[in-house]
Amino acid sequence: MRFDEFDLHDEILEAISYMGFEKASPIQEKAIPLILENKDLLAFAQTGTGKTAAFILPILDKIAHSKGDSINTLIIVPTRELAIQIDQQIQGFSYFLPTNSIAIYGGGDGSDWVTQSKALKNKTDIIVATPGKLISHLNVGNIKFEQLQHLVLDEADRMLDMGFYDDIQRIVSYLPKKRQTLLFSATMPPKIKKLSSAILDKPEEIAIELSKPAEKVLQAAYLCSENHKTPFINHLINQKEDYKSILIFTSTKAKVNQIVRGLKNKNYQTDGISSDLEQSERENVLSAFKAKRTRVLVATDVISRGIDIKDIELIINYDVPGDAEDYVHRVGRTARAESEGVAVTLINENDMFRFKKIEELIETEIIKLPIPPEIGKSPEWNPKSQNFRFKNNQRKNRKK
Ligand code: AMP
Repeated sequence: MRFDEFDLHDEILEAISYMGFEKASPIQEKAIPLILENKDLLAFAQTGTGKTAAFILPILDKIAHSKGDSINTLIIVPTRELAIQIDQQIQGFSYFLPTNSIAIYGGGDGSDWVTQSKALKNKTDIIVATPGKLISHLNVGNIKFEQLQHLVLDEADRMLDMGFYDDIQRIVSYLPKKRQTLLFSATMPPKIKKLSSAILDKPEEIAIELSKPAEKVLQAAYLCSENHKTPFINHLINQKEDYKSILIFTSTKAKVNQIVRGLKNKNYQTDGISSDLEQSERENVLSAFKAKRTRVLVATDVISRGIDIKDIELIINYDVPGDAEDYVHRVGRTARAESEGVAVTLINENDMFRFKKIEELIETEIIKLPIPPEIGKSPEWNPKSQNFRFKNNQRKNRKK
């Protein structure tokens, strides 16, 4: 479906064509008409499907028709990176409109608070905020939501995982009862159902290709003992000279530092990002990677959800993520929308059982390869025996 088949303002269609979007993605095709019809929405879609534009475009269209002079739309998101990214997308799509927006998040120095407070006192159409910081502004009466028309919760499952259920309820208590509410979530845990029945009014439900990485990602796995992982990624990165953007995921902050040190020793332009960094440092690291000044970025799952970096050619999962959904999010960083990408996972003896669970979730069997013999011997693929050991360990732990 083409964008001009939706009933959207010409200024918005012009911005869409400047962005180079040709056809609407499936979530956009389903969500845009429903949002234009003022329906509440419960949408299951992962990042990489085009879900951000699916809610921004119709909301911008409605703001362009409205005559309000205070906050029209509140978008609540789990992380500051996502807040900044959505705010940037709003600025892109509203380039030819008088609409303005602001991102509100914590982690900066005190000057952010002053800038945010000032901006909130002026006319702001759209606020994109993380829950904690928004509540701080609400507590001191910085924000008035009397004319609010739209509430969007993005990555709602992630927010609940992070313990924001009560904060969200609290924020909602400040909003007018009559409003349109849109809830986007990658998964459907019972808590999402509970939240949606508390804050949505007769929502339309849509689900888009849940839990499957974009089709253009070439996925592979290497069976690799822990002590062979560093030499193997050195080998992999060395072999792929033409790859200018490589993202390595690992589950702990300590491992990020260890991997960065190893790669820097080999003279690869490498940076690490985890929640240890200050907000300004995180932004600098991300922009150097986006601008391709850094070739390899090593990250914890802090950036696996929602963050949109174009043209990542290779994702390496240094370890198998604990949560199968995180695999989908990590792999979703490559091959976003129209491009192609490769995602490689390193599986050691203890992670086989968990990797099998991921394959079940994504309904795909991923090819498993041995590492080159000059680096070491690969363990045999045997997810069942790990299953047994895993259960035994759990039993032992419970007895302790
Ligand atoms: P999202 O799922 O919102 O994180 O979007 C993923 C990426 O797809 C972003 O880089 C968007 O700019 C891009 N995108 C969204 N919609 C389209 C579209 N209809 N055509 C091409 N790219 C798109």
